[in-house]
Amino acid sequence: MGNSPLVTDTRLSPHFNPRNHAIDTVTIHCVVGQCTAKTVLNFDRFDLDDPDDDDASCNYVVGCDGSIGLCVEEKNRSWCTSNRDNDHRAITIEVASGTKHPYEVTDAAYKALINLLVDICQRNPGIGTLKWKGDKSLIGQPDKQNMTVHRWFANKACPGEWLYSRHAQIAAEVNARLTGGTTTKPAVPTPAPTPSEPTTPDTSVKFKAGDLVSLTADARYYNGTEVPRWVLRKNWYVKSDAKGDRVVVNKSEDGKNAINSPIHAKYLKLVQAKPDVPYLVQVSISDLNIRKGPGTNHGKRGVTGKGVFTIVEVQNGSGSKSGWGLLKAYQKNRNGWVSLDYCKKV
Ligand SMILES: [Zn+2]
Repeated sequence: MGNSPLVTDTRLSPHFNPRNHAIDTVTIHCVVGQCTAKTVLNFDRFDLDDPDDDDASCNYVVGCDGSIGLCVEEKNRSWCTSNRDNDHRAITIEVASGTKHPYEVTDAAYKALINLLVDICQRNPGIGTLKWKGDKSLIGQPDKQNMTVHRWFANKACPGEWLYSRHAQIAAEVNARLTGGTTTKPAVPTPAPTPSEPTTPDTSVKFKAGDLVSLTADARYYNGTEVPRWVLRKNWYVKSDAKGDRVVVNKSEDGKNAINSPIHAKYLKLVQAKPDVPYLVQVSISDLNIRKGPGTNHGKRGVTGKGVFTIVEVQNGSGSKSGWGLLKAYQKNRNGWVSLDYCKKV
């Protein structure tokens, strides 16, 4: 027990309770501010008389310069994670971070966080090694997962995408240190340095407007900036201005997100090429619905009947794996679409 010998600054907050549960969990948070531990310890919200009555605390603070602050002693429960049960069993750590998505953390803070976690694990056998599965349903099962995140308990981005996406890596680095293993080869990928641009520029863009593409894992570091994981998980449409070796993708497949900066073609892979239109299809069912837009969420306007039809445009949309085809007869007003699941190219 006790507190970490790595602490450089102490300012104990009055916001705590004696723990009612043994320590078996860690919860890493982001401060939303690149400050030293000392500055964070002096935040209003850790004070008895916070004018906003936004009473909070944490066990430890990691500053942007690698300083480590003690805010609530380990033996006590901090007011940190919007969940009493979690905070009674968790050691909570606030880490200085950027103020905007993805709430990045400095090198110095990241290193200090790893050192602090190694020390916490060594002194707290109830934690032992770190286990992370990114699975909210495992809350309260520390034998399976003993790292939790604030966003599971409250409508918050905390700990921010930068730290959240590194939880597996953090666990691997800490565990490697604990077992005397090497930290140079963690079980999960370490963020690679920013890949350099190719020395012989590849000027042949392999993609054309309307292609559906996804970003490769390497794209996480394009332009020297980390791309959040959710960006990698989505499919994107290639915009009309694919030039040289750069491709601009606009809306994601679900139409909810946009990437505005050009992406090197080497970071893209083709999910579905835009079909060359027009083309002919055979419909062999008698009741294929014609819809006013590309998706089952659009109203019906009759059926095609069996026969051969000309498709002049293809789009993705709900309710059809193969996409939706615009019938030539409705080209002018773009209001007659069929599910290509029931059409065969002829
Ligand atoms: Zn938090």
